[in-house]
Amino acid sequence: MADPEKVHAVRVGWGLVIHGGVGVLPPEQLTPAVDGAYRDALTESLSRGFETLSGGGSATDGVVEAIKVMEDSPLFNVGRGSNLTSDGLVSMDASIMEGGTLSAGAVAGVRDVRHPIRLARHVMDDCPHVLLAGEGAEAFAREMGMASHEPDFFFTQRRWDDLQAAKAREAQGEAKPNTVDAGDEEIRDRAGTVGAVALDREGLLVAGTSTGGSANKKWGRIGDSPIVAAGTYAGSHCGVSCTGWGEYFIRHAVAHDIQARMAYLGVTLKEATEQVVLGTLEDHRAGLGGVVAMDRQGYVEMCFNTRGMYRGWVDEVGRVRVAIF
Ligand code: ASP
Repeated sequence: MADPEKVHAVRVGWGLVIHGGVGVLPPEQLTPAVDGAYRDALTESLSRGFETLSGGGSATDGVVEAIKVMEDSPLFNVGRGSNLTSDGLVSMDASIMEGGTLSAGAVAGVRDVRHPIRLARHVMDDCPHVLLAGEGAEAFAREMGMASHEPDFFFTQRRWDDLQAAKAREAQGEAKPNTVDAGDEEIRDRAGTVGAVALDREGLLVAGTSTGGSANKKWGRIGDSPIVAAGTYAGSHCGVSCTGWGEYFIRHAVAHDIQARMAYLGVTLKEATEQVVLGTLEDHRAGLGGVVAMDRQGYVEMCFNTRGMYRGWVDEVGRVRVAIF
């Protein structure tokens, strides 16, 4: 069996691929214990997704269940453990899309929902719109019977410390929003988004993404994760979930560009993801990030232009693999 760290493309048949974000911790913080905790959390997410799919759940169910596990883990920048805005609160974004029907649902700037991906699914299934934001999205959550949680529920000391560090860099004029002059340190402020793409036995392909967005964000900033075609897409050829510097993923409509290259140029999933992540995005130095993607034949791609990306996949016989670098 190949070393999972070196596998970037694999055929899983029906199954699931996930990411827990780019911007992995620096080596001094990624101790063996922390490294193991990330791998355990990814494994739990994949196992939940596989149980759902093998138990007869749809790809949509698989994506939601896998992402919920990561939304509950404080390790990832999503749900509990989300990055904090400049006012010290969470503001979470999520989206989900089904290939074939092109059904989609998304929420942006929600502050009190434990599982934003579930709320995005409600938008897709139970409302005529695609994207709901802020208080309106929270009111819709109540109508869907989803509980409201206090800010303390989402708070973690780690993200508070990250916020203070981001504010200190900003005060020293070191923060470089929207410039092309960024490095791995900059991407760390917007790391830990989670996502999943699944293909079920019926051939339904679904992609979903959920995030706390960037640390110290202001003015109601929304990244790519809830934007269908930017952070998430599922279409006739593939499903894609993105992580990285959201502003660049929006500008380049990254998730849809991968699908469009397959559809219009006739290239493979591997070629399409590499053209976008290692080509288009790398040509803009701040376009740091990565994607997980899956096509109709059950080929999985995990492609990133950063030092690492928390990620993993499970195949149709339940074999789970996780990797970071
Ligand atoms: N893309 C997300 C955003 O910009 C952050 C991430 O992927 O870590 O909000």
